[in-house]
Amino acid sequence: METKIINKQDLAKLIDGLISAGARTVAPVKVGQMHLFQEVRSPAEAVFDYFLARRSPKEFLFPQTEPIFSYTRQKDSVKIHPVDMAFPRTVVFGLRPCDAAGPGILDALFAWDYEDKFWFNRREQTAFVSMTCAQADHACFCSSVGLSPDAADTGADLHLTLLDDGQRYFVEAPTGKGKKLVSEFPSLFKPATDSDAAARGSAGEKAKGLITRKLDLSNVKQWLGSHFTDELWERLSAKCIGCGACAFECPTCHCFDFQDEATPEGGVRCKNWDSCCIDNFTLHASGHNPRNIQHKRYRQRIMHKFKYYIDKFGKTLCTGCGRCSRQCPVTLDIAEVLENIAAKAASGS
Ligand code: SF4
Ligand code: SF4
Repeated sequence: METKIINKQDLAKLIDGLISAGARTVAPVKVGQMHLFQEVRSPAEAVFDYFLARRSPKEFLFPQTEPIFSYTRQKDSVKIHPVDMAFPRTVVFGLRPCDAAGPGILDALFAWDYEDKFWFNRREQTAFVSMTCAQADHACFCSSVGLSPDAADTGADLHLTLLDDGQRYFVEAPTGKGKKLVSEFPSLFKPATDSDAAARGSAGEKAKGLITRKLDLSNVKQWLGSHFTDELWERLSAKCIGCGACAFECPTCHCFDFQDEATPEGGVRCKNWDSCCIDNFTLHASGHNPRNIQHKRYRQRIMHKFKYYIDKFGKTLCTGCGRCSRQCPVTLDIAEVLENIAAKAASGS
């Protein structure tokens, strides 16, 4: 993997250079008490000394709402107006390895029975620059789903690790897009020495030590396969209020629906984020709802992430970022649910 060094001033120049070149440049920005990924107009807006953004960066590939076409009614027909599918070049800085893993998990879904051009056209235009974590909390469990807080190869195009001098980042370029980014701004990237590589190794070990929550998920999928009905679902998830916050902040939740914003003359068809935890997600036009009570909806969330998606695409639909536990208004902790399942699986119940 190509490696380099970039110092903090040159990282600011890289951001500035991309903005000047017309790229949509996105970074964590402090908004009130939280950090959000937002387009920046100056490198001074970007905050890299931070924990984790409130929402994952999936919205830069899969916006919360977007028009997929508009239409006008004519006398005996409807005229469809496609939307512009030429998306801007976008570079997203400062995501964590757990967030960088999200798009690679979702590619298979968006290419499954139909290739979603909204996703893949944006994907082609977007580069991700991740950073080794400097903070973690009890909700983080990335290492239990095969990731690591210092991993360079979870899906980012460039990965930066702040070295112990606090001024220089060790740069790894695992993809062609990452190498191209380096080659566009050659004066900003300096060669990395063996001692820089050793310092990167130590910083990575320190980051790994931040993750204290370790889950044994080895028997979870098997248990789920035989416990669609179990007392655990109601016991642990009856308190879910179906707000959908967990899905909206998650880097891998991807359910959406379509709604028309219509007038008598025409309208716009929009694709909107949705969540299996919301009560009308499976509500039929007849009024029947097969998931007619909240714990059945939460069960679907766990089943989808730790059984169905693995069966279908061979990947766990979770990066262990912990957002859903941190932000849940009723403190429903996904890691605790998984720990309970693992304990049941181990005891054979
Ligand atoms: S688990 Fe929590 S965040 Fe998710 S829908 Fe239920 S109450 Fe909302
Ligand atoms: S399910 Fe929760 S922990 Fe897993 S990726 Fe989504 S928000 Fe993060």
